[in-house]
Amino acid sequence: MTDTFLAGRTALITGSTSGIGLAIAEALGRHGAKVGINGLGTPEQIDAAIQQCRDAGAPDVRYFDANLIDPKAIDAMLAEAAQWSPIDVLVNSAGIQRTAPIEGQRDNWDAVIAINLSAAFHCMSGLLPDMRERGFGRVINIASVHGLVASVEKAPYVASKFGIVGLSKVAALEYASAGNRDSGGVTVNCICPGWVETPLIESQIQARADQHGGDRDAGIADLLSEKQPSRRMTLPEEIAELALWLCRREAHNLNGAAIPVDGGWTSQ
Ligand code: NAD
Repeated sequence: MTDTFLAGRTALITGSTSGIGLAIAEALGRHGAKVGINGLGTPEQIDAAIQQCRDAGAPDVRYFDANLIDPKAIDAMLAEAAQWSPIDVLVNSAGIQRTAPIEGQRDNWDAVIAINLSAAFHCMSGLLPDMRERGFGRVINIASVHGLVASVEKAPYVASKFGIVGLSKVAALEYASAGNRDSGGVTVNCICPGWVETPLIESQIQARADQHGGDRDAGIADLLSEKQPSRRMTLPEEIAELALWLCRREAHNLNGAAIPVDGGWTSQ
């Protein structure tokens, strides 16, 4: 029988119409949480994401239609969420990637920083005070190995991910004394994945596949061999299992961490 330890809790997961965010929304729903999902996509993609969470067993699923590049849209999403339910778990998973040398990143910078970093700040600053009042809260920021080490041609992305790791540590310190061991406290952590098989990295896979005569598997192997020593992609549902554990009461003292899930990438 599934352990519904999140029954009575509500989670808001940004960027959950796809990839890691969707896998986390499903996992939290499966374990009893009401889930608020958010993200871009066609009406069909959004309906499919809602249905996937319902099928997983989420007792209530709500879609929040906010483009996170716009702080006013974030405020409106948080106001709508407050009408729905207090938010116990915030997962900031929305993110974009733009690859080019620094001199080619001028048109990308503002958007990458706004979606990958500022949106998380706005959601956290809006929701953390209420978590403190209730003595329980979890913020899980989906950062990246690129919040720990750099790679070429990813200047705004790396800056945004180092930024979210730093932001999370400040928030962890500011809220560390909230609640107690029984209530579960308030924690703020980052998960730092290496390569995860989602649409986000598809253009990078395709670029490598093109160097191997269109062979996708060879392109993936090439990407992995460069930096991820396990030479295995992580699956989104594997990241979701870690996010799930961070939501447990027992995780009350795991705080301010940036946890790599990278096959050894950042151990080199
Ligand atoms: P994805 O492309 O599958 O999902 C990204 C999600 O963000 C989608 O739901 C998309 O609609 C949403 N989004 C993008 N722009 C948005 C906007 N303006 N407003 C609202 N939502 C928006 O990618 P993913 O791999 O699941 O990425 C999730 C997070 O994981 C990102 O922050 C990414 O940086 C991080 N990450 C991914 C990998 C990887 O290899 N896939 C590795 C490390 C970190």
